[in-house]
Order: sequence, then structure tokens, then C-alpha cells
Amino acid sequence: MSQCKVALVTGANKGIGFAIVRALCKEYTGDVYLSSRDVGRGTAAVDSLKKEGLHPLFHQLDINDPNSVRTARDFFQEKYGGLDVLINNAGIAFKMADTTPFGTQADVTLKTNFFATRDMCNVFLPIIKPGGRLVNVSSGMGSMALGRCSPELQARFRSDDITEEELNGLMERFVREAQEGVHSERGWPSTAYGISKTGLTTLTRIQARNLTKERPGDGILCNACCPGWVRTDMAGPNATKSPDEGAITPVYLALLPAGAKEPHGQFVSEMKVQPW
Ligand code: NDP
Repeated sequence: MSQCKVALVTGANKGIGFAIVRALCKEYTGDVYLSSRDVGRGTAAVDSLKKEGLHPLFHQLDINDPNSVRTARDFFQEKYGGLDVLINNAGIAFKMADTTPFGTQADVTLKTNFFATRDMCNVFLPIIKPGGRLVNVSSGMGSMALGRCSPELQARFRSDDITEEELNGLMERFVREAQEGVHSERGWPSTAYGISKTGLTTLTRIQARNLTKERPGDGILCNACCPGWVRTDMAGPNATKSPDEGAITPVYLALLPAGAKEPHGQFVSEMKVQPW
């Protein structure tokens, strides 16, 4: 078994994930895995970083495919005895102009951004090593969507006693009410992407709380972040940051020094803890 430290980034064949891998290759003393759902796109991305003189490794990983997730988890368990850094970056967003019905957009968006990312966390958390770092790439859009929820929903998302089970139920309820066309009257804003990220940031807070309770001596730090508005296929060419700039906050959270106690269970943007 390799004694080397090891980091894994999801959805890293392009965009912010690709830039995160580039930065980790330069700054992290350990193996860095670029993962992608498509082997061709992933290995092409690895090759292009190799041309920059960097040495990422590759593993296939489609977060929507439970077999793919388990296979990757087993690989890291067997080869490294676990994982030191996990950056859940993979995500999707419908374009503003997309005419897909809102209920379908809600279903599809939450499937990847919330439910599949949750499954990634639940499958990988047991193999995250002491001193490990878990970073969920969420979005400021999740905070904005939170502010546009009914006072009752806001109180639940902000509460310190919400469980993963209750959160799952709220996310399922949003999809169902969006499909029934009643989400607005039930207190939800009309943003599937925003609510998927409200859910992801809330999930991160729950996971951090659980880690503190269940593995108090392990010093694992778990945070959500916003990369900023970044020029990628998702956000388009008018965004203000380059992918390398977008990688700064996620990489900062991934590389919090050994022994650090905070941030933990926070939503971080521009390397600063934000109010939730
Ligand atoms: P891109 O669309 O450029 O890249 C998204 C990446 O996620 C791609 O590699 C894509 O793979 C991958 N992906 C999508 N679905 C899956 C899946 N099921 N399994 C594995 N990988 C998957 O987006 P960005 O780089 O802009 O976004 C990265 C993250 O940052 C997202 O979570 C996004 O929500 C977040 N974010 C982005 C902002 C921005 O301004 N760009 C602002 C705030 C947050 P493929 O190429 O195969 O489609």
C-alpha cells in the first residue's frame, strides 16, 4: 500500500475542477487524482496538465453512477488505505435560456448537485483519513436562494439541529412541488440550481457537525465554498474570474494546515467565512 497522501477532485476534466487539480499538483505533497465521468475527456485533461510539467493521476468517476462511486472508493481504500482530501466539484446548471420545464430542471439539477454529491460524501467519508479535508464546491447562489425561501424553510436550513434525513426530505419536497407547479406557494424560489446549492451548503454543515460528534479526535475539516463567478462552460465568457482564480478558495480549504481547527462546517468565499 502507498504511504503517500492523496487528493481526489470530481468533475475535473474542465473548468474549475481542472484548475483545482492544476493548483494541487503544484502545492500538495501527495498524489493528485483528476477524475472525470468520461475517460476520454479525463485522460485528455491529464495529458494537457502533463504538458505543463505536472503529474496528475486519473480515475474514472461519474457521481451519478453508484457503481462508479463505489469502485473509486474501493480503489483509494486498497491503494492508499483511504483518502486525505476530497473536493466535490462536479456540478451542473441549466442555461438561463433553457426551456426545459422547471419541474424537470429541478429533478435533474438536484440529482447531481445535491443527491449525487451527498452520496459521494456518504460513500467516501468513512475512508477519509484523520487530518483529512472535505470541500464541497457550492455557490453564493445557494445563499441567495436561502434568503428567498419562506421564513419557515430558512429557519430549518439555518438550524443547528437539522438532520441529513430532514434535509433529504426538504430537497425531495422541492422537486415534487416544482413538478406539481406549486413550489412558489409552498415557499420556494424559482431557482433549481440555487436550491441545489442551498441543500449542499446545509449538508456540509450537518456533516461537519456529525464529524465533530462521531470522530472528535480525527481533526477532519469539512467546508462548503463559492469559487466566485468563473469563466467556464457553466458560467460563460463574461464571468469575472479565470478558472485558476476560481480554484483559490477551494484549494485553500483543501490545504488547511495540519492541526487547524477552523474553518469547519462553514460556507467560505474569497477565503472568508460567510454568514449563513
Ligand atoms: P463546468 O460546466 O465547466 O464543469 C463541470 C464539471 O462537472 C465537468 O467536468 C463535468 O463533466 C462535471 N460533471 C457534471 N456532472 C458530473 C457527474 N455526474 N459526474 C462527474 N462529473 C460531472 O462548470 P464549472 O467548472 O464552472 O463548475 C464547477 C463547480 O463550481 C460546480 O459545482 C458549479 O456549480 C460551481 N460553481 C461555479 C461557478 C462559476 O461561476 N463557474 C460559480 C459558483 C459555483 P463533463 O465535462 O463530463 O460534463
